[in-house]
Amino acid sequence: MPPVFRFAPSPNGYLHLGHAYSALLNFDLARQSGGRLLLRIEDIDATRCRPEFEQAIYEDLAWLGIGWETPVRRQSEHFAAYRAAVERLAAQGLVYPSFESRAEIARLVAGKEARGAWPRDPDGAPLYPGTARSLGPEERDRLMAHGLPFAQRLDMAAACARAGRLNWREAGEGPGGETGEVAARPEAWGDVILARKETPTSYHLSVVIDDALQGVTDVVRGIDLFWSTSVHRLLQTLLGLPQPAYRHHRLVRDAAGQKLSKSTRATGLRELRAEGASPADIRRMVGLP
Ligand code: GLU
Repeated sequence: MPPVFRFAPSPNGYLHLGHAYSALLNFDLARQSGGRLLLRIEDIDATRCRPEFEQAIYEDLAWLGIGWETPVRRQSEHFAAYRAAVERLAAQGLVYPSFESRAEIARLVAGKEARGAWPRDPDGAPLYPGTARSLGPEERDRLMAHGLPFAQRLDMAAACARAGRLNWREAGEGPGGETGEVAARPEAWGDVILARKETPTSYHLSVVIDDALQGVTDVVRGIDLFWSTSVHRLLQTLLGLPQPAYRHHRLVRDAAGQKLSKSTRATGLRELRAEGASPADIRRMVGLP
């Protein structure tokens, strides 16, 4: 079976040199290994994703000389599949609803921090500080009957106990030089959100479902997602999904050494193209042969 790679951008802005590096690396690895390259549009966030950004992704990738298989999977068309996965986890007793608003969560965290350090996840966000996990069934039903919006969270302690120790095969390198067999640390993320009322899925859940459904064998993506792999391995295990191999790559930085953002025009592919850069120039700029 040929390996299956994927490039999975979110259409919430125009692609920059960092995306070009990731896409070209996936494309090159697929070609060198006689593998396949899939493109997946990760558009679960309706408030930030726009059709013009999706269109621009196709144009920019084609201009770079990248080919991909069709049809392209668009996550917004598959909410039912993600909902079914949340239900499977819920049936294992690993999911609970939490009703706090973002503002309430911020207040709870501030309160915790006033009394000492409160743990943060690998992205630097505070862990969920609430107590919704211990709400009794009647209280839950009462809040739901009131129509209060809620998020469905993974009971991380219970999930980790169920899954046992996990690791993954890393062909790249983590932020601390981790490589080879890396021990997953999903507990570092706390009770992550699996689904929200307005978005019936989450990045972690949909990426895991789609990689499995699309038969992805090799996940090649930025090092900023390195520790997310802990949660992905946990969800794969709980849902009985196969585990791909992982390769996390360096991020392209700007002249000042900063991480690129979708709003920095200086490194946008459209801007560079308008200024006369060629696809070969882009390869050179990101350090690819
Ligand atoms: N959609 C994610 C992003 O734009 C990438 C997801 C992944 O490669 O796992 O950063």
